[in-house]
Amino acid sequence: MTLSIPFDNSYARLPERLFARVKPTPVAAPELLAFNHPLARELGITGDDDIDGLAKVFGGNALPEGAEPIAQLYAGHQFGQWNPQLGDGRAVLLGEVQGYDLQLKGSGRTPFSRNGDGRAWLGPVLREFVVSEAMHALGIPTTRALAAVATGERVQRERALPGAVLTRVAASHIRVGTFQALAARQDIEGLRALFDHAVARYYPEVDGPLAFLEAVIERQAQLVTKWLSVGFIHGVMNTDNCAISGETIDYGPCAFLDEYHPLTVFSSIDQRGRYAYARQAEIIVWNMAQLATALIPLMPDADAAVADFTKAVHAMVPRLETLWAETFTRKIGITTPCDGDMELSARLLQLMTDQGADFTNTFATLANGTARDQFTDRDAFDLWAQDWQARLAEENDPEATMRAANPILIPRNHRIEEMIDAAVEGDMAPFARLMQAYAHPYEKVEEFSDLRRRPADSERVHRTFCGT
Ligand code: AMP
Ligand code: MG
Repeated sequence: MTLSIPFDNSYARLPERLFARVKPTPVAAPELLAFNHPLARELGITGDDDIDGLAKVFGGNALPEGAEPIAQLYAGHQFGQWNPQLGDGRAVLLGEVQGYDLQLKGSGRTPFSRNGDGRAWLGPVLREFVVSEAMHALGIPTTRALAAVATGERVQRERALPGAVLTRVAASHIRVGTFQALAARQDIEGLRALFDHAVARYYPEVDGPLAFLEAVIERQAQLVTKWLSVGFIHGVMNTDNCAISGETIDYGPCAFLDEYHPLTVFSSIDQRGRYAYARQAEIIVWNMAQLATALIPLMPDADAAVADFTKAVHAMVPRLETLWAETFTRKIGITTPCDGDMELSARLLQLMTDQGADFTNTFATLANGTARDQFTDRDAFDLWAQDWQARLAEENDPEATMRAANPILIPRNHRIEEMIDAAVEGDMAPFARLMQAYAHPYEKVEEFSDLRRRPADSERVHRTFCGT
């Protein structure tokens, strides 16, 4: 059977100034490295047994019937600095399938490429593939990975590296920065068209810009709380990497905590720790304030809108605190937090910080009573555990609560790097193994026990880099 994708491309029907029509640039020798068949099935894609066809389409060498490739315009605040013109510089949206965007990333230059080559190298492509699918399995809203294709070309970075193209699937690629781009140009008509499109597609229950803002705030509050709950550090929470759908997007320099410290930073370009682990809850409020600002021109009375929107953004702070309390008390087995419970979680995190305890393994072993092994000063842990046990006596089935809240496996940075090193040498076996392991992060599988181990000093990843 030949490959068939049931496209219906609503974004390409918006005003032309919101995007540029541009085709993927063909590559020298497309070779399929990975394909997510279950996801393809969910999207109604058929004929995906045609490996050669998949390589051509998802490498950018053949345009599937019904595709209308475009590069989307957006702007954004990068590390707090306004950049009026970003846009898909190395990505094209092939089209939409059953309400999801299919986007090729690393597919060649576009009018938004500036000085970039429009390409991606194998490392970030496989990293995004593994980590985004792992996030999905963890129950965290995220873009998905459909395909990875080797290009047979080299891309020049610090050195010449093998090129690849990732196909990313997202409910939406509309970012805070998409709204900002049009608001900054004072293109009210374009802004209105984008707004109407976003509401119709993602928030049909919503009436007007204030309700839209509140709905996006709620999804982002839930998303960031989920990141915190698994020790995820996005690494580059610029407003152009903040999707209005509330999906995790852009896996450039992301990383997971090994030992817990709230101010952990991995990204090489985040020199001041703006996007450190615990700061993510403040930054998302800042990003939502930028969305609010971009929506003001849609309102008939700007002064009244500023007052209402400011209130909505400010309300995000206590909302995040509530979500944090619910999430982090569940992680210690408490289903309905009462007075003092949040402090109990905070005290555990303080102990973990003081002693450099592993975030994932500490929480994952609370349920089986071996968490104290994660600490060097066990007396300090035992003191905390006495109070904790006393509180748990009032809970119904705290072990079950903890098992559901605490993953056993997260994609640790050193395993991702190890997988990339192997893939560069042509060995895709570690990739396949990680994909298999991270598909069931809450199950204890003996075969994958090595993946639970925190890194030895020699394995430790100190820095992560943007996918450029
Ligand atoms: P990112 O760091 O992936 O969020 O990208 C920030 C901006 O730089 C986006 O507009 C990207 O499309 C663009 N960009 C990143 N890498 C490249 C590249 N190799 N070629 C062209 N544009 C790029
Ligand atoms: Mg980005």
